[in-house]
Amino acid sequence: MSVGIPETMRAWVVERPGPLEARPLRLVELPVPEPGHGELLVRVLACGVCRTDLHVTEGDLPVHRPRVVPGHEVVGEVVAVGPPAAHPDPRRPAADGKLGVGDRVGVAWLRHTCGVCAYCLCGAENLCPRSRYTGWDADGGYAEYTTVPGDFAYRLPDGYDDVDLAPLLCAGIIGYRALRRTSLPDGGRLGLYGFGGSAHLTAQVALAQGATLHVLTRGAAAQELALRLGASSARGAYDAPPGPLDGAVLFAPVGDLVPVAMRALDRGGVLAVAGIHLSDVPALVYETDLFYEKELRSVTSNTREDGRDLLAFAAAHRLDVDAHPYRLDRADQALADLKAGAFAGAAVLVP
Ligand SMILES: [Zn+2]
Ligand SMILES: [Zn+2]
Repeated sequence: MSVGIPETMRAWVVERPGPLEARPLRLVELPVPEPGHGELLVRVLACGVCRTDLHVTEGDLPVHRPRVVPGHEVVGEVVAVGPPAAHPDPRRPAADGKLGVGDRVGVAWLRHTCGVCAYCLCGAENLCPRSRYTGWDADGGYAEYTTVPGDFAYRLPDGYDDVDLAPLLCAGIIGYRALRRTSLPDGGRLGLYGFGGSAHLTAQVALAQGATLHVLTRGAAAQELALRLGASSARGAYDAPPGPLDGAVLFAPVGDLVPVAMRALDRGGVLAVAGIHLSDVPALVYETDLFYEKELRSVTSNTREDGRDLLAFAAAHRLDVDAHPYRLDRADQALADLKAGAFAGAAVLVP
């Protein structure tokens, strides 16, 4: 290992997935990872805490890598570069040009796609059956160091500090894709169900694009944040919005809200479900929930193009990131606070 890079680091591992109350996470000392072929070694400067980390930790998602280090919203500095990729593939250009030692980079959820399947070749690499994910298939950013394939690292916009950038890397990108999936017409009426790390960023993108925004969420703090950012109304999650919606995004992982949101749509409206995990959806009533060409769509991960587009949007429009920093050794508390809805906005770990 090069000069200045220690042999070991502090990292959280998912020891035994289960309810947070059973303390599934453990803070341990691990060897600093060696960057493999085509990979970058990144010193973590900040790592966002995403609801997906909670799903990995609590076992809502199956184990892909035993004792995985969670975390997939990493802002870091490249400190070493692995040997060149074994089989460089000209069809898979680097995400953001060549990144090297000293660059500030973003490490996000998607970290590998095959590049040759029908989905990859038609611009839907988010559906690649051989895709792999940071903090699930490979160790992520709840640590002092992590690695990322160079082709999947993002160059980051100036004008934001590390803590503010971290939530953009999943909360921001997934929300951006979810908003796209609503096919909201220009000046359309958008409903956001749930208002946390992802929704508060999506709200700002939608408002900048001219949407009228209605937020349906629990909690006075989240409703206040929504109004402060420019929402026209903020009500309880099960309340009806003031009028019909052209599009809606469901951020809360609550299947019970699907029929509620479908009923709130105008004719031809689209509901996009942003989460990777959702509790069961109750029966829909065709007449009120689907007829008149209403549509229910899921959102599966994102493409690198989504990521670049969101980061370019953030460079052009200053996003107000409601970040709540926690020391790295408080990751379990950050997840508990996320689960309890203790804050609006996004928690960010700082080593
Ligand atoms: Zn593929
Ligand atoms: Zn995430």
